[in-house]
Amino acid sequence: MNEVKRVAFCSFGADSTANVLLGMEHGEPPDEIVYCEVMFDKDISGEIPEHRDFIYETAIPFFASHGIKTNVVRGEKTFISCFYSKIGEKGAEHNQGKIWAWPLCGRCFVQRDCKARPMYRFERTAWAGQQIVKLSGIAADEEARLLSMLGYGGVSLLEKHGKTQTDARQMCRKAGLLSPIYQFSNRNGCWFCPNSKHRERRHLYDHHPDLWQALLRLQREPNKATELFDRHHTIDEIDAMFRMEDAQYSLFSDKPVIPYEF
Ligand code: SF4
Repeated sequence: MNEVKRVAFCSFGADSTANVLLGMEHGEPPDEIVYCEVMFDKDISGEIPEHRDFIYETAIPFFASHGIKTNVVRGEKTFISCFYSKIGEKGAEHNQGKIWAWPLCGRCFVQRDCKARPMYRFERTAWAGQQIVKLSGIAADEEARLLSMLGYGGVSLLEKHGKTQTDARQMCRKAGLLSPIYQFSNRNGCWFCPNSKHRERRHLYDHHPDLWQALLRLQREPNKATELFDRHHTIDEIDAMFRMEDAQYSLFSDKPVIPYEF
């Protein structure tokens, strides 16, 4: 009979990292970690840069030093290759021939094409014929996600040991494994995520202008199926809001004014 392999699915956010730490603490560590890195294009990661640095410079080496290997999975498709995909005959008539453009809130093609499918392919090839226990970092106070975990037969050590999301952050902090992303966000998602909150976008605008400019360039592409980056705004509108914020802020500080453009 095949040996059972315990695999932790980890994004290196607080919950999934604490899930691995809990396994180590209770003598039931995973045999391996699997992490899916969504890519913006073939060179640029979809992770917020601070989080990507944390993953590769801190988290993966930490677990490797404790004998737990991390498998990094990347799909063939990237955000950009999906963005420029053309809508075919199966799409709504008024959209046929247009490019997909921005992912839709709640129906994200990045989640499907750059994450779920590559992970599924990896599972089928790397662990073919093996019995796998899937460890998912879902906290004891996340009832909806715990219910959805039943659908794919996952096991959460956080749930087993009654650890909440707050507990998970404390565990990571204590171990020196809390991603810097939590200084400006309460979640870790792609930097081009339509579900991102104001603070995350503001962080990108202030600290990663090259990535922000990439979004502005995409907004100018013609023939998009949707102009809206999220449910309500284009990137140009969000950009204008930030410039307005800066202009107001400059009334009360010495911060230089960025010229306001329409
Ligand atoms: S973080 Fe946002 S953009 Fe990335 S896969 Fe999830 S929903 Fe899609």
